Amino acid sequence: MSDLMNVDQAVEQVLQHFARLPPEPVGLPDALNRIAAADIIAPGNIPPFANSSMDGFAVRAAATHGADNVPITLQVVMDIPAGSMPQGRLGAGEAARIMTGAPMPDGADAVVPVENTDARWNAGSNASLPAAVQVRRSVKAGDYVRPAGEDIPAGAHVIPAGRIIRAAEIGILASLGMETVSVIRQPRVAILSTGDELVDVGEALTPGKIRDSNGYVLAALAETYGAIPLRIPIARDTLEDVRRRFREALDSKPDLIISSAGVSVGAFDVVRAVMDELGKIDFWRINLRPGKPLAFGHLGGVPFFGLPGNPVSAMVTFDIFVRPALLRLRGGDERVPYVQAIVGEDLHSDGRRTYLRVTLRHEHGVWVATTTGNQSSGALTSMMLADGLLIVPEDMGSIPAGTALPVRLLRDQSEYV
Ligand code: AMP
Ligand code: MG
Repeated sequence: MSDLMNVDQAVEQVLQHFARLPPEPVGLPDALNRIAAADIIAPGNIPPFANSSMDGFAVRAAATHGADNVPITLQVVMDIPAGSMPQGRLGAGEAARIMTGAPMPDGADAVVPVENTDARWNAGSNASLPAAVQVRRSVKAGDYVRPAGEDIPAGAHVIPAGRIIRAAEIGILASLGMETVSVIRQPRVAILSTGDELVDVGEALTPGKIRDSNGYVLAALAETYGAIPLRIPIARDTLEDVRRRFREALDSKPDLIISSAGVSVGAFDVVRAVMDELGKIDFWRINLRPGKPLAFGHLGGVPFFGLPGNPVSAMVTFDIFVRPALLRLRGGDERVPYVQAIVGEDLHSDGRRTYLRVTLRHEHGVWVATTTGNQSSGALTSMMLADGLLIVPEDMGSIPAGTALPVRLLRDQSEYV
């Protein structure tokens, strides 16, 4: 076991070769799911002016004092629909009819909601303005008023650099009038499957062949973590074909190249020969199950991962090595989410660090992890069903039910709760 490389040290070595990509400007709708490249500083207040949070009457709060006992009548001197700007100043004993979101008039410091008056109107109606209104509830200064800058004061660092831009961030950027946003450039990831047994998804399955699933899975994973996948046609197990496809991969101007298969003992001669021609690659044997063989290095100056061919091994090694590398290229939050879970069944391990595919359920305040059936490194259903990867540490032979172990989440934790 001692000649095998430790997983964490291998990840550390890999990550040294990655740094945040440069920024680029994009139009606001295209900023979704991208990473803010710089702090977004509010150029103005949101809301831009003090406004009413209710349909009602803007008043001086002091003028409503005592209205809870005896209704107070105020003269209605102004009408302020949404989108208009009130003219003049409200005096004592006066009220302005005001709609939700409309600007507060000078002199007013509170709003009496319409339901606390004798007035009646339907939202948006152009019912004629009453001459007077009877106020039945008193208000305090500030009631039902949203001050200017209440949500975002001018000058606030409202979205920090590195934050993922989701729907709410898009809304804030729109409110601030930002038509373009500076985001981190997306990494371009060339993806290449190797193997004489592979046919593409639309081709007939002749005897001895299987369909290339890794190419599609790795492209989907790359996209999940913010990259632009660039699919390269399947490389046959010949020196010429592997060389040609890797050259094509380099020609696609990638930030990263990922291949699958051809790194296991007995399979890697062709891939290794091409690697030695095109760059500098290390073949690692990692203390890891699934996914012991892994290649990492540079081809024509571009970082390269040679992942194992078995579909589950390819996915697990992507999660352990490529996912954090992509997160680092994006420059945002690099942390992969974990939970601590109780193992729901007796398990056995061969002493290698093992990543078991598990489902999670929350029971009496703890997470319980249960394996997703067949754990063969070829069984993609074990990945499909999995919420996460239960990590059995090195040198642990038997794991009785009830043991607490970490689970690396395959998706955002918010999806489980
Ligand atoms: P290898 O690394 O070439 O020895 O392949 C290991 C296993 O993974 C074999 O069973 C291959 O058929 C399978 N495999 C390799 N590439 C792919 C792929 N792109 N899609 C699905 N299975 C694959
Ligand atoms: Mg092969």
